[in-house]
Amino acid sequence: MEGSANERLYFGKMGYGCKHYRRRCKIRAPCCNEVFDCRHCHNEATSMLSNPIDQHELVRSDVKQVICAVCDTEQPVARVCTNCGVNMGEYFCEVCKFFDDDIDKRQFHCDDCGICRVGGRENYFHCKKCGSCYAISLRDNHSCVENSMQHHCPICYEYLFDSLKDTIVMKCGHTMHCECYHEMMKRDKYCCPICSRSVIDMSIAWKRIDEEIEATVMPEDYRYKKVWILCNDCNDTTEVFFHIIGQKCSHCKSYNTRTIAPPVLPQ
Ligand SMILES: [Zn+2]
Ligand SMILES: [Zn+2]
Ligand SMILES: [Zn+2]
Ligand SMILES: [Zn+2]
Ligand SMILES: [Zn+2]
Ligand SMILES: [Zn+2]
Ligand SMILES: [Zn+2]
Ligand SMILES: [Zn+2]
Repeated sequence: MEGSANERLYFGKMGYGCKHYRRRCKIRAPCCNEVFDCRHCHNEATSMLSNPIDQHELVRSDVKQVICAVCDTEQPVARVCTNCGVNMGEYFCEVCKFFDDDIDKRQFHCDDCGICRVGGRENYFHCKKCGSCYAISLRDNHSCVENSMQHHCPICYEYLFDSLKDTIVMKCGHTMHCECYHEMMKRDKYCCPICSRSVIDMSIAWKRIDEEIEATVMPEDYRYKKVWILCNDCNDTTEVFFHIIGQKCSHCKSYNTRTIAPPVLPQ
């Protein structure tokens, strides 16, 4: 008997679910009392509703009832179906009311984030300042930005904190989706869309601009014109000679600068 009950736990594993998760249950949304495969299915469906007032997101921890996908029995959230004895999710988080049969994703619950993440607990650490889990390689190796992940991706506007897509932390500490970042690179944009700091080492590009400027003499009228610039990379303001191709920061040699009004001196 023991053996067969154990076997029952695995029945239907990986055989049920939606495009988001393999799992052997559906959830009853506490917000609209309807049944969905998962919270993403719920959010996708409600985001399509024509009346903006009806659009809402499911709060995962509020889910109280699940429906076993094998025997169709509705019941309070638990790992094993009380009626037919299957494991409704090989991975189960009691806090997030989250089920997933595909444990190759190496799910884990982060108490500080308050949500489940993928990729193996041992590969991540929780940065208290940034308020999110980051890859171990970023430990003591990133600029902290308070609540850096509690933002929408500056390119596609998806909320990053619980996004299923990979996220990148730029040199400035701001974050965005990896795929949006690579899309941005492809379009020859090399600065953070939030703070404008260069996201990669630009020294070769700056050298090329140096050469271009040397080869391009400005017309007499402009040759001695000076402007004030703010450097997007080091935040320094300096007064430099104006050039049509670009203004170089005298402090860090970056051309990632913008012209600003001259500082107002105290009278
Ligand atoms: Zn789904
Ligand atoms: Zn069942
Ligand atoms: Zn969780
Ligand atoms: Zn975390
Ligand atoms: Zn941090
Ligand atoms: Zn994005
Ligand atoms: Zn930035
Ligand atoms: Zn600079």
